[in-house]
Amino acid sequence: MRRGPQSSQCSTTNVCLGSTSLRQVADPISALTVLTVHAHPDDEASKGAPTLAKCKAEGIGTVLVCATGGEEGDLQNPSLREEGQPFHGLPPAEERALVASMRDAELAASAAVIGFDEVVMLGYRDSGMAETESNQHPDCFHRADLDEAVGRLVAVIRRVRSHVIITYGDDQKGYPHPDHLKVHDVSVLAFDRAGDPAWYPDAGEPFAPSKLYYAVWAKARILAVHNAMLKYTGESPFSDEWLQRESQDHRITTKIEVGAYQWARTGALRAHATQIDPSAGWWFGLNDEQLAETYPWEDWILARNRVGLIPDTDSERDLFAGLRAEADS
Ligand SMILES: [Zn+2]
Repeated sequence: MRRGPQSSQCSTTNVCLGSTSLRQVADPISALTVLTVHAHPDDEASKGAPTLAKCKAEGIGTVLVCATGGEEGDLQNPSLREEGQPFHGLPPAEERALVASMRDAELAASAAVIGFDEVVMLGYRDSGMAETESNQHPDCFHRADLDEAVGRLVAVIRRVRSHVIITYGDDQKGYPHPDHLKVHDVSVLAFDRAGDPAWYPDAGEPFAPSKLYYAVWAKARILAVHNAMLKYTGESPFSDEWLQRESQDHRITTKIEVGAYQWARTGALRAHATQIDPSAGWWFGLNDEQLAETYPWEDWILARNRVGLIPDTDSERDLFAGLRAEADS
């Protein structure tokens, strides 16, 4: 039996937005709660923002857990190097340091756009891309002891009592970032252990979440956006590598209609000013209306379900299917 960390995950305010929470104690989390686990600030903007905004609009409690502070992020927005902008004339080392110093605030702004009730930083360091020197940093998430990292997440799940957990999938061949792979491993174990009193007895009252979802980039979405970009702009940002990626669409169980919530993705991405180039067709080639018309869904794989069966087709339209009646009664 392993002992997890004590109930508080956060000892310093600079790495834990949870302690200076967007949600204060006077506003308790709703009966139904979704918790989404991400690796870096900006992942919550590019993956699932419209679905989480829709949950918020439905009165569901929304919690974001971010494993790292994104310390290895480079400046991705060249316009910030122009005269009069904060990065103008900075040498590379100072530029990186300034980017790192801005990511907490960017994350808070993005989370506010999407409507997260709370943001919890797990407190690890960004491991950087695979095979880079930062993979060796002693504080990086990639090197974190698995049971210890799971204990940190279990403590959050037990505290907020989240019925639905969202994480990255088991097939990340398309983007095998060490921190994203670790998010998956940690989340699955945390889902299994949170309700087990034998694990982490000092990390709060056991609570078993009901459903675990994996995020997935549907091939159908990539192709639809590719074709719409060609139609509207005459060019597509998707390379052949993207278009030939192996499809996981046959694994999709759940499609959430988010046509009216594209603003959450757009606004959250823009909040990450150092990471997202506002002129990039990759992110903004289609406006919200065009995106909603092109592909109004976000797609999910239901990986674990303690309140019912896992559908063998993409027939589910609600992350909380099987849970809403229970919460009402
Ligand atoms: Zn990431």
